[in-house]
Amino acid sequence: MREKLLSLKNEALQELEQVQSAAELNELRVKYLGKKGPLTEIMRGMGALSAEERPVIGQVANEVRGAIEAAVQERQNAFDRAETERRLKSEQVDVTLPGRAPQQGGMHPLTRVVREIEDIFLGMGYKVAEGPEMEQDYYNFEALNLPKNHPARDMQDSFYVTEDILMRTHTSPVQVRTMEAMKGQLPVKIICPGRVYRRDNDDATHSHVFTQIEGLVIDRHIRFSDLKGTLLQFAREMFGPSTKIRTRPSFFPFTEPSAEVDVSCANCGGEGCRVCKHTGWLEILGSGMVHPRVLQMSGYDPNEVSGFAFGMGVERIAMLKYGIDDIRHFYVNDLRFLRQFAKH
Ligand SMILES: [Zn+2]
Repeated sequence: MREKLLSLKNEALQELEQVQSAAELNELRVKYLGKKGPLTEIMRGMGALSAEERPVIGQVANEVRGAIEAAVQERQNAFDRAETERRLKSEQVDVTLPGRAPQQGGMHPLTRVVREIEDIFLGMGYKVAEGPEMEQDYYNFEALNLPKNHPARDMQDSFYVTEDILMRTHTSPVQVRTMEAMKGQLPVKIICPGRVYRRDNDDATHSHVFTQIEGLVIDRHIRFSDLKGTLLQFAREMFGPSTKIRTRPSFFPFTEPSAEVDVSCANCGGEGCRVCKHTGWLEILGSGMVHPRVLQMSGYDPNEVSGFAFGMGVERIAMLKYGIDDIRHFYVNDLRFLRQFAKH
């Protein structure tokens, strides 16, 4: 039995030499030291030994078990060290590598132009007012002197949500809401930037959603010359100090009289070029004196006060300013387009 034990030990130690992995080592441990292993079997057979033999063989068996266990543990430690080393190497951080910079956003060109226009008017004492994009028919049309069935409603083909609610076709309802909230106080001096919606087939110069900025001033003794002076000041700050403006008669249901406002072409200085279609002028604004009926509906007495209003398309101004030839560029979010404005 002693020989049997010693040869078992040699066999185990030899086999241990061949072990290549921690998994193989575990198999070997189970094979020799497990409950069903030969060592356990031998120990079980000790009951048949004589009283003198038993402690002697018991000691040998314990030594053999101890030797195998120690050899297995040593091997296990070697595998653990190798694994630790491998991980340290593979997870090594190279602190000399350059950092990965996070993607940084830039301001959208339309936001830039809106901010620029806002700044000009804030400098003239205006406040910025905003309102809902989904609007009641009353604020979008009726309070602006456009009763139901008014033919001018066709000028602004609309997206209706219900019979009485639509996507606003202009930012003018914000003017009405502001006048209502002011309850007759003076002066009213606001600009209203925001998105507006019209049924239109999208092409290079039309979009079913676009951005407007409107202005409204109401006070005593406001005259058409105040409107002209304000817009001239705006045009000079926006397009350069030598910019000129001219007004042409027009029609809007909510102003009387109404005027289209052109600015001299900054591209050619009024000489005529491709941008201004060789006229020297660019159409950028609609404007006029607030219609007495609009004042009245919003709680102001047209005999006491007067006002002017103007509105412009932000896309058109951005296109002129940056030389953009297609309005759709503003909405498709092509990073190649947007990145050009990120650092202006
Ligand atoms: Zn020109």
